[in-house]
Formats: sequence, C-alpha cells, structure tokens
Amino acid sequence: MARVDMKSLTKRFGDVTAVDAIDLEIADGEFVAILGPSGCGKSTTLFLLSGIEMPNDGVIAFDGKDVTRHEAMERGIGLVFQSYALYPHMTVLENIMFPLEMMRLPKPTRRDRAIEAAGLVQIGDLIERRPHQLSGGQQQRVALARALVKEPRLLLLDEPLSNLDASLRHVMRSEIRRLQRRLALTTVLVTHDQIEATTMADRIVVMNKGRIEQVGTADDLYRRPANSFVAGFIGSPSINLISSVAHAGRVQFGDVSAMLARPSSTPLLLGFRPEHLRFADTGVAGRIVQVEPMGREVLYEVETGNGILGVLQSADLPRLGEGNSVHLAADAHDMLAFDITSGKVLDLQPLAAAISSPRHEPELSGTIPA
Ligand code: ATP
Repeated sequence: MARVDMKSLTKRFGDVTAVDAIDLEIADGEFVAILGPSGCGKSTTLFLLSGIEMPNDGVIAFDGKDVTRHEAMERGIGLVFQSYALYPHMTVLENIMFPLEMMRLPKPTRRDRAIEAAGLVQIGDLIERRPHQLSGGQQQRVALARALVKEPRLLLLDEPLSNLDASLRHVMRSEIRRLQRRLALTTVLVTHDQIEATTMADRIVVMNKGRIEQVGTADDLYRRPANSFVAGFIGSPSINLISSVAHAGRVQFGDVSAMLARPSSTPLLLGFRPEHLRFADTGVAGRIVQVEPMGREVLYEVETGNGILGVLQSADLPRLGEGNSVHLAADAHDMLAFDITSGKVLDLQPLAAAISSPRHEPELSGTIPA
C-alpha cells in the first residue's frame, strides 16, 4: 500500500491542458474519488498515476519516492477500466493469472494467488469459464481480481461500474468498498457519478477544466462547498443559484437592478438547496410548473421572478398541483452565498444574522413575471 503525493502535476495535449498544476496527497489506505464533468481531466490524472501517460511538469511520489518517470510496470499498480478488457480465448483463471506471468512468478504461486483473488471477488466457482460465458457483472469481477492479484500498492479504478445496471452497480459499490477497507488498499476511483463518489470514497476530489476545485468528504462538499461550481455539481436535485444583492447588511433578490443602483451594494449569487426551501404564507411568489414524485419526497419546480426554483418536500405533506400559486421561504442559516465573479463562497454569517434579526423581516422577495 502506498501514500501518494502529486505536486504541480501538469499534462498538456497540444493546446489542451488536460491536467493543470494539481497538488494532491492521498494517505496510505485511503479511498479517493476524482469526480467532475466530462473532459475535466479525471482519466488523464489516473493515467499519470499509472504511468500510462507521462506529465509535462510536476512530480508523483509513492511513499516519498519519486516515481514520475517510472514505467507503468515498475509502479505496482492495479488498474480496472470501464471496458473489462479480458482476453476472450483465456479462462477466467488464466485471465487473472496473466499479470503474474508477466511478473515471472512460478506457476503454482500464480495459480494459488489467482484462486485467492477469484475468491475475494466471489467468482471462485467460475474460474474455468471463458469471458463470453459470464455476465457483465461477473466480467467486471474478473477484471477486479486481475488487478488485485498483483497485490498492488495502488488500485486505480476508471469508471469501473458504468456498464452495469443500476442494481448491480449498487451491489458492486458496497462490495468494492468493503474489499478496499479489508485490504487497506490505497485506491483512486475516477467517476462522473456523484452517488458513486459519495458512497464509496473517504474523500472526493472535484475537478473542473484540469484543476482541482475542492477536496473533502461528501459532507464537506455538500454543506461547505468552496465555490458555486462545487455547489452546483454536488447534490441531486441541484442547488438553486439565484442572483441577488447585499446592501447594508441585508440580502435581497427579486428586483436586483433597483438594489444594485444603490451605493455600496454588492451583487451575490445565493444558493438554496431544494430541501431548504419551503412553502409559506409570504416570501418569493411563484407558480408550480412541474410536480415530480420521487418516492419519499416530491420535487416541485416553481417559476418565480428569479427563474425556476426546485423545492423538495416530504411526500407526506399535502400535495400541491401544477398551476398552484405559492410563496417560498427559507432559513437564513441554510443559505450559501458566492462571489458573483469568482464564484468563491462568502462568509454569510453577518448577513444571516441581519436577516434573522427581529428588526429585519427576511427580504426573500420577488414576483412572478406577468
Ligand atoms: P470523461 O469523463 O469524458 O472520460 P475526463 O474528465 O476523464 O473525461 P480526460 O479524458 O482526462 O477527461 O480529458 C481531459 C482533456 O484532455 C479533454 O479535453 C480531452 O479531449 C483531452 N485529451 C485526453 N486525452 C487526450 C489525448 N490522448 N490526446 C489529445 N487530447 C486528449
């Protein structure tokens, strides 16, 4: 198992900077997920760690030892891809043993270790089959066993569950997580699926345009996003981001142009999670334009003067219908605020205190367009 350090790691492909001077430390035995939209540089980061790609700049160290220019074979990596990449003419056992053949281990040792790895991923009874005689989930287990059999220092998983159906993905998520804990295997998972990242990883690295936006636990990213990108990317249904204005210690949205005209007013982006908005007697006026039952909760899409806002309510509450006129309220301490230019999170405490003070009515005002 290894501790991993990446320093100023950069990879360019012609004009494209796929990975832009990232710094990241991964503790020995930690499970880290790299999460981000398509093209943000997740897979390239994984390929740099594996030695498949070489960086233009920066350093990668395993347990303090510089491996930046080491070949993939020398790094002691186990890799699992979205496509299982099994050899069709080999049996399951031969597929799992293959990396050990490359390591020139004696045949009986190879066989013993492959059987043990097959047992770890619960395919011990399938070792004589060929890949075409397996389901997708079983093939992915073979790929995982083939990565584990090497007893790697670092396990790298590139979207390993994307080809599986939803229920199998759920099972495999918890199995991989349990196995990773049991083996205390330093693991990096690349995914665009936030559920996968939040359920499997100790920490999540959110990437965007080759850079790291934030590193933290699922809770950190959800409750304390560093910027509006992370706030918008983490959470389903998505956070409501609303243009607003702070003036004299109070926040208003609605007719922000009038507020902005006042001296010393600051434009802000306010964030409200759908579960933090509620229907009330006063507040932002709107009209329900869509009702989406989601099991234990109902998502209402409400058209307001500030755009469509999502409101998540318990399904046990009285159901409202499309076309209903409503008002929306929120508690000040549930609000997030971001700098409108940089997107960086702002300290809202002084504003929140002003909003919730009895001297000021919460100015969550707005009108529905005519
Ligand atoms: P996805 O989720 O779609 O796989 P990703 O976050 O893994 O995306 P990367 O595959 O790392 O993104 O790609 C990052 C950027 O680098 C993209 O703009 C991509 O087009 C570019 N890129 C990646 N590999 C190469 C390559 N071999 N040659 C040229 N450009 C590349």
